[in-house]
Amino acid sequence: MTATLVFHSGPDPFEPWRDALAPHLGEDVLIEKSDSVTDPEAVRFALVWMPPEGFFDRFPNLELVINLGAGVDRLVARKDLPDVPITRLSDPEMGRMMAGFVLFSVLRHAREIPHFQAAQTRREWSYRHPRAAQDITVAVLGLGELGAPAATEIARQGFDTHGWATRPRDLPGVTVHHTEAALPALSAKADIVVCMLPLTPGTRKRLDASFFDGLKPGAAFVNVSRGEVVDQEALVAALQSGQLSGATLDVFETEPLPTDSPLWDMPGVLITPHLASVALPKSAAPQIAANIRAVLAGRAVSNEVSRVRGY
Ligand code: NDP
Repeated sequence: MTATLVFHSGPDPFEPWRDALAPHLGEDVLIEKSDSVTDPEAVRFALVWMPPEGFFDRFPNLELVINLGAGVDRLVARKDLPDVPITRLSDPEMGRMMAGFVLFSVLRHAREIPHFQAAQTRREWSYRHPRAAQDITVAVLGLGELGAPAATEIARQGFDTHGWATRPRDLPGVTVHHTEAALPALSAKADIVVCMLPLTPGTRKRLDASFFDGLKPGAAFVNVSRGEVVDQEALVAALQSGQLSGATLDVFETEPLPTDSPLWDMPGVLITPHLASVALPKSAAPQIAANIRAVLAGRAVSNEVSRVRGY
């Protein structure tokens, strides 16, 4: 009997996902866009990014929800989530794209690019002697599927690289800290802090005024995870006071970032519209298909999200 995989995403076009998935799924799984599902009762799998409220009610026979991305905060917080396994993408290519963006952000601050950009607007040859990477401390908060490769990439460039997570782990070239108590000492010595924490009840506004006050004066801040992990008013205040010398920000409390946000005009701040990494159909399709096959065969799925932890 044919089972249906329903697809829903605002930013991701349907056709590349259908074309990437079809060869891995075979003819017994039909792939349909959510607005053209012919038989809602045949839908057993959902591949979704931020579906609208009530979306899941249409499909009474769902057996698996696949988050079309890494961050699951918006999915696991929903009240209408069916009681079936939720999986996320765990794609090395997505990790590589994120690691590249994070490395760019770290180098932007380490090599004082905002200073040179400002000097250029004044037609000024404003030499600053570069610092050696080994003399620059970078703290990566969150060492998950995306955080770990990013930290490893930073370490590969020779930076004094530290990471912070809830559990200890070995990462080549990275000094890993794993207790709440370790964060103040780590953030006090970091020249550049990179936020890669998932948004959970435990991390919402975790990076607040006291966190920014505790940073090394003149440190730089990078956020590529979720805007709500940061108290954005405290971030703005830290940039205004000079406690932070600059920031590279890909995510915000409200997206799109409102046009009247003070962040737009701040010296040393780079704003990008939530694109540090994206789900890639060709590389993610095999793992999505493998999980669908697992459900069809009655086996356990991979990359399952913990609703309790929230990531
Ligand atoms: P994971 O869920 O794989 O890992 C989360 C990491 O954070 C783990 O190392 C975990 O620790 C740690 N962590 C969780 N809670 C805490 C806490 N309270 N204190 C300390 N450490 C904590 O996340 P990913 O690496 O895959 O992704 C990170 C975030 O990046 C995503 O949640 C998503 O929001 C965001 N993202 C952003 C994109 C963009 O384009 N800007 C694209 C894709 C994702 P432990 O290892 O001990 O479990």
